[in-house]
Amino acid sequence: MQGVSEAGIADLLIVGGGVNGAAIARDAAGRGLSVQLVEQHDLAQHTSSASTKLIHGGLRYLEYYEFRLVREALIERERLLGIAPHIIWPLEFVLPHEQHLRPAWMIRAGLFLYDHLAKRKTLPSSRGVSFAVHPAGKILKPSYKRGFTYADCWVEDSRLVVLNAMDAAERGAVINTRCKLKSARPEGGVWHAETDAGPLKARALVNAAGPWVGEVLGQKLGLNTKNAVRMIKGSHIVTRRLYEGDHAFILQNPDGRIVFVIPYERNFSLIGTTDVPFDADPNKVEISVEETSYLCEAVSRYFRTAITPADVVWSYAGVRPLYDDHAAEAKAVTRDYVLDLKHDNAMPPLLSVFGGKITTSRKLAEHALEKLLPAMGRQVGASWTGTAALPGGDFADFDKYLSEFRRRFPSLSPDLARRLVRSYGTRAERFAGTNMGEDLGGGVSEAEAAYLARHEWARTAEDILWRRSRLGLHVPEGTAARMDEYLSRAVSAG
Ligand SMILES: Cc1cc2nc3c(=O)[nH]c(=O)nc-3n(C[C@H](O)[C@H](O)[C@H](O)COP(=O)(O)OP(=O)(O)OC[C@H]3O[C@@H](n4cnc5c(N)ncnc54)[C@H](O)[C@@H]3O)c2cc1C
Repeated sequence: MQGVSEAGIADLLIVGGGVNGAAIARDAAGRGLSVQLVEQHDLAQHTSSASTKLIHGGLRYLEYYEFRLVREALIERERLLGIAPHIIWPLEFVLPHEQHLRPAWMIRAGLFLYDHLAKRKTLPSSRGVSFAVHPAGKILKPSYKRGFTYADCWVEDSRLVVLNAMDAAERGAVINTRCKLKSARPEGGVWHAETDAGPLKARALVNAAGPWVGEVLGQKLGLNTKNAVRMIKGSHIVTRRLYEGDHAFILQNPDGRIVFVIPYERNFSLIGTTDVPFDADPNKVEISVEETSYLCEAVSRYFRTAITPADVVWSYAGVRPLYDDHAAEAKAVTRDYVLDLKHDNAMPPLLSVFGGKITTSRKLAEHALEKLLPAMGRQVGASWTGTAALPGGDFADFDKYLSEFRRRFPSLSPDLARRLVRSYGTRAERFAGTNMGEDLGGGVSEAEAAYLARHEWARTAEDILWRRSRLGLHVPEGTAARMDEYLSRAVSAG
């Protein structure tokens, strides 16, 4: 059996199929460890599908002197772009200048640091722009005359999680979705866990449960910890596309926060986010009326055409499981991560993950293994995840590969070919072709749904329409029911 050694004991049991758990599974499996991952719901069902979807250094973290985090994130930006060019791409940000909020010298200094804290190979450097010339001038109110542009990257957040899990599985890890860790206790130098899939044993346990990290420690393992997670809700709204053009905006708010407006899913604009302290059940996170108004007002302050809550076509919210550094304000809590390793004679290694970003997940996983492996009496070995392509990402130039794909599969419409390559990269070749079965809605064929069920752990229409993709925004009524019906037939047919 893969994922466990001869004695039925895995090297690692990872709790949590968000970006951090999946990245640790990938890295560990590639270093030869036997890995079991349990996720209580679907992969990326929680925080890791509710992000702003930016691979970014975090320009605003410079104001909190988070130089280590920003530098690490900027290095990761180029690395992730290299290993997953299908789901990650550069995005230009326009920052309208507001002298009374942040003086120009301060922004120039921040952007200079942002440009130079880490080496850039692909992304352009920042620059000052005049809105008499830049297309953003047509969208912004005429009082905005000048601003700045800089580059960061977009990421399909939940697909990044799935690709990490796929790569881990292809290297021998066992990924159990819809499988909750109920309890675990140390005995005879091994963790004995009870899960929905039955008992599991492991030499080390990784608690990557995101907003549940404290619950896993306290309720499932019966331990106390001095480290705590501070839950901060963040919400986004989606409207019909507010403007033409590929650039995003970073808007400064009078409360010192920033709000992004980003072109989304071709026909939409994504607007977020908020920072609201949260102490309820992380299973039930929703945008509030106040947050919706706050985001609409942020856009209306800058854009010629105001928006109101009536323009919102969809929204989502998530909880940031941040490391509690006792900052006074939600927006000031560190976005850096803390890895807490417990290990003594009575307890085999237990590593808990506090905080982190989608952007730093690969590096976090590397640090996690550098801490865990010596505690397990194993050699750390060379890091490898920064250069090995994620599934489907084994090409260098997106446009070039797309043209090649279209030549090979001429029966696909240009839009469908593009969507498939953006979603699956070279893996789309495994199911694309002339006979892809019935269209279940919105261009999702039976062949695509079958691929998602077989290789990406998709079990329901929601998994496909709202996490493996955001096609839920586009598909006609009845698609979800047809897809669920197809999936249940496909699963029962094995
Ligand atoms: C509004 C918002 C915007 C953000 N924007 C960005 C951004 O633009 N860029 C960026 O880099 N980062 C961003 N982040 C941060 C990023 O999304 C998070 O740091 C990251 O997703 C956390 O991942 P995780 O794996 O730790 O947690 P999660 O994704 O929540 O995963 C933890 C998983 O553990 C599972 N679990 C819990 N208990 C159990 C159990 N007992 N058994 C089995 N499974 C269990 C849960 O079901 C969950 O799926 C944003 C976050 C928010 C909320």
